Amino acid sequence: MKTVAIIGCGQLAMMMAQAAKKIGLHVSFVAYDNEDVRSVSNLGKIVRYSRGKSVAKLFKDLGEPEVVTVEREQVDVSLLHELSDFCQVHPNPDAVKVTQNRIYEKELLQHFGFAVAPYKKIRNVDDLLCAFTSLYPPLFVKHPTSGYDGKNQWRLNSIGDLEKITIPEKSFPLVAEEKVPFLYEASLIAARSKAGEIRYYPPTVNEHKDGILLKSYTTDNKKINRQILPARKIMATLLEHWDYVGVLSLELFCTEDGLIVNELAPRVHNSGHWTMDGCSCSQFENHIRAITGKKLGDTKAQFPAGMVNLLGVDSAPKQFTSNSKIYWYNKTPLPKRKMGHINIVDEDNVQLEEKQNFLIQEIYSNSELPKKSA
Ligand code: AMP
Repeated sequence: MKTVAIIGCGQLAMMMAQAAKKIGLHVSFVAYDNEDVRSVSNLGKIVRYSRGKSVAKLFKDLGEPEVVTVEREQVDVSLLHELSDFCQVHPNPDAVKVTQNRIYEKELLQHFGFAVAPYKKIRNVDDLLCAFTSLYPPLFVKHPTSGYDGKNQWRLNSIGDLEKITIPEKSFPLVAEEKVPFLYEASLIAARSKAGEIRYYPPTVNEHKDGILLKSYTTDNKKINRQILPARKIMATLLEHWDYVGVLSLELFCTEDGLIVNELAPRVHNSGHWTMDGCSCSQFENHIRAITGKKLGDTKAQFPAGMVNLLGVDSAPKQFTSNSKIYWYNKTPLPKRKMGHINIVDEDNVQLEEKQNFLIQEIYSNSELPKKSA
């Protein structure tokens, strides 16, 4: 039986592994030294690895996989290159390298003529002071590699806010972005096969709380779907540029003047979890199918579908909605931590929205969404 090795042991690795097993593949995992592996413990062999150890031994310990893939962009790209001497590595390590740095990502998007939020590279506090004159505040200041889910990010309304926060010296360089006046946020997820076929999932509208995704849903709003359609061109350009194999995700701001790309993720995405119940082939299965050379599965939504994240909570809502399914990641609860999610499908978009709002109320009525990250 063929083996797929996944670098990372979180919930995305868990759901990819479950999809791989469903289509008859073995799975193994690479865990960094102190990584929590509980989400994937029973799904395949877990190999602890730290820089400097033999890559040949790692390959052997992983069961000589046919292909190695990643569950997150913050992986050691040189390890991906070294593993590619032994087996296939998808997605292309160049795509991982670019998408792990917000500045490289913006430069590539601009190279292709796609819009990003006006930004400046910030090497020190003086650059940050200058950014308040060269950009229009408020500003989002972000770490280019380690900022995600609102972590390592500072929202500054005016230069005076600089006195209220401390940006650690070691955090520089940073990137400062203008606040985008978006109408809504959306994402587009697509899979590209080895043969170069691209299949797009329906776009989702995403709502965040304190910088973390709270809910995603497909929509029958024709205007919104039309507005997001140009994202397909961005997606196809990037997939072809990298000769990308697997799932790629685009996070978008939708404005009066068109789309602005916020971020790229070279992997399956939280906003695509609804595909587990809303499509005949989920984003997880399609990623695995692509990287193992199989034909892609259907990406059409069978019903209006959505997802609500379970952030920092470890118990199910007392009252549940019909056609809803809960998924737990087997993680230790921490404030704001993604502990699981609920997928909801409904024949009707309005009812879908009502169910999502009801669940959010049920989940968070006693514990207002925590404000501080752990
Ligand atoms: P990020 O870590 O870049 O995905 O940011 C998390 C969330 O913060 C986004 O989904 C937006 O809701 C918000 N955000 C980040 N950057 C900006 C921006 N430049 N303008 C407006 N909202 C932003």
